[in-house]
Amino acid sequence: MIQRFSPEIKESIRTRIRYFRDLGVFDFYRRDAAPRETLIATEEVTEAADSGENVAVAVTEAESPAPSAGFPVQETASLKKTIGSKIVSVDRAAALEAIRQDIGDCTRCALHKGRHSIVFGDGDPNARLMFVGEGPGADEDAQGLPFVGRAGQLLNNMIGAMGLRRDQVYIANIVKCRPPQNRVPEPVEANTCAPFLFRQIEAIQPEVIVALGATAATYLLGGKSPLGALRGRIHQARGAKLIVTYHPAYLLRDPRQKKEAWADLQLAMAELGLKAPAKS
Ligand code: URA
Repeated sequence: MIQRFSPEIKESIRTRIRYFRDLGVFDFYRRDAAPRETLIATEEVTEAADSGENVAVAVTEAESPAPSAGFPVQETASLKKTIGSKIVSVDRAAALEAIRQDIGDCTRCALHKGRHSIVFGDGDPNARLMFVGEGPGADEDAQGLPFVGRAGQLLNNMIGAMGLRRDQVYIANIVKCRPPQNRVPEPVEANTCAPFLFRQIEAIQPEVIVALGATAATYLLGGKSPLGALRGRIHQARGAKLIVTYHPAYLLRDPRQKKEAWADLQLAMAELGLKAPAKS
């Protein structure tokens, strides 16, 4: 049976989801274990997507709990993983746009004071591969796009070496506003901003994420370890395989490490079934 909610209930669910997202909580589960034959209420998904909320409502034939009995709501990405082929596709570009709307003209942390642009992210909303850096630099702040300066040129070359174009992947950062003097974001800044990145990941559902440098690795993995201890293997993070490599800015300073970075990218390519293009 497909359960329909009144507009008031839907609005109250959305409000609660937004509230929990601001607290950094992203997955919602029904109290009882969901039976296998979970259905998605197509109309609810479509309506939610139309209204800019990346929300799906799951109910079952067997039981239709009252909306007040816990949260009969999960985020779309979680549902996709749970029920595989029964998925109702929600427009990922619209989901990203909804996240951008939620960010608004953000003043949630001190980084807003020095920024010119919020650097949201760039690339294909349906990308299988996502790159995550630390935070915008001067060029990115000026243009409103991630990785467009010198480090960005190198990242573009790395993407090209994988046989991909930049517009086939998605690129974002842990923080969306430029830290002064390009310093490492403070934990309070990263922890304030990262939930929006996590929502972007949940909307895009990349198969593989490449964390560029220690800051990206720390906040995606939820703990600090030396980069050397994290490279060369596959981690799980945010529903994707996560590979850690050097930040392109570091590779510009120490090009000898490019070989190591290429080995990391080859790990990602193997996961994605990609072959490097033949050298011309
Ligand atoms: N360095 C980053 O970490 N991100 C950018 O977008 C640019 C440089």
